Amino acid sequence: MPARILDGLRIRDEIFAELKTEIGKLHGHGIRPGLAAVLVGENPASQIYVKSKIAACEQLGMASWLHTPPASVSTDYMLQLVHDLNADDNVDGILIQLPLPAQVDSKRVLEAVDPAKDVDGFHPVSMGMLVSNRPGLVACTPAGCMEMLRRNQIPIEGANAVVLGRSDIVGKPMALLLLHANATVAVCHSKTRDLVDVIRRADILVAAIGKAGYVQADWIKPGAAVIDVGTNKVMDAGEAERLLRHFPERLERFRAKGSVLVGDVHPDAVQVAGALSPVPGGVGPMTITMLMSNTVKAAQLRRASNTAVARS
Ligand code: NAP
Repeated sequence: MPARILDGLRIRDEIFAELKTEIGKLHGHGIRPGLAAVLVGENPASQIYVKSKIAACEQLGMASWLHTPPASVSTDYMLQLVHDLNADDNVDGILIQLPLPAQVDSKRVLEAVDPAKDVDGFHPVSMGMLVSNRPGLVACTPAGCMEMLRRNQIPIEGANAVVLGRSDIVGKPMALLLLHANATVAVCHSKTRDLVDVIRRADILVAAIGKAGYVQADWIKPGAAVIDVGTNKVMDAGEAERLLRHFPERLERFRAKGSVLVGDVHPDAVQVAGALSPVPGGVGPMTITMLMSNTVKAAQLRRASNTAVARS
C-alpha cells in the first residue's frame, strides 16, 4: 500500500487558522506582530523566498518591512541595520535572508540579532536554549518537521529516529527536537560508516543532505515515517528519467518545464514508507509557517512583560 502523504499545505492552513486567533488577541492589546526581512542583493531564489514570507505576513494580518541593501553592502552597514531593528519596538522578528555576499561577516551579523527577535532560531542563545530544552525560538525547518510528525499522530517516544545531515540549521536542531521528544536518535553525515544499515533501522527518517533521490526505496524500513527536507532542482533529463520513471505525470511536467523539484529521498520510497512528506508541498510550506509562528511567539514573549498577552 502506498505511503500516507504528509501534506504540508494542509498543516500550514491548520496552523495559520490557529495563528489568526493568537494575532487577533494581540490586536486586542493594540499589538500588531511584525517581521522585518533583510534581503541583500538580487539573488532570484532569495527574492522568491522573501516575497512569500512577506505575503504570509500580509495574509495573517501581521506587519512586515523589507530592507534591500545592495550586494556591495559592508558588514558595518549590516550591523547598524540590525542594531536599528533590534531597537525598534514594532519589530518582533528579524529575518536575515541567507546567503549574504562574501565580503559580509555573516556570523557577526546573525549574532548581532537580539535573541528575543531571532525568529530564524540561528543565534547561539537560541541554540543553547534548544540544547537545554528550554522554551525559545527554534529553527523553522526542524520545528516544522516536528509539527508534521505530531499533527499526523506519528509516535515519536521510544522510536528509532535517524537524521541524515548535521547542518546547524536543519540536522542538529532536528536531532535535538527528536531527542527531547524521547526518540532514540542517530545523526548521520558524509563520514558515517554503514549508512544504509543505520537508515534501515529507522522508524522515523529525516533526510536533509541536498542530494536528489539519494536515499533509495530499499534502504527504508517498511512502514517508516519519512520526512524529506531536501529541495533539489533537477534539470538533467537522464537524472529526471531515473528518478521519475514510475511517475509519468511528473516526468511529463519535467519535459514541459525543463526542471523538477526532487527531495533527498527517491520518489519510489512512496511504495515502502508508511508515511512520506512530498517534495514539493511537504516541508517547504512548513518552514514559512513556523517563521510566522515564531514571529507571533516572539511578540507574545517580548511584549508579555508590559501586557497580559502571553500565549494561553
Ligand atoms: P548542508 O548545510 O549542505 O548540510 C548537508 C549535510 O548532509 C551535511 O551534514 C553533510 O555531511 C551531509 N551529507 C552530504 N552528503 C551526504 C552523504 N552522501 N551521506 C550522508 N550525509 C551527507 O545542507 P542543509 O542546509 O542542511 O540542507 C539540506 C537540504 O535541505 C538541501 O536540499 C536544502 O535545500 C534543503 N532545505 C530545505 C528547506 C525547506 O524549507 N524545505 C530548508 C532548509 C534546507 P558533512 O557534515 O559530513 O559534510
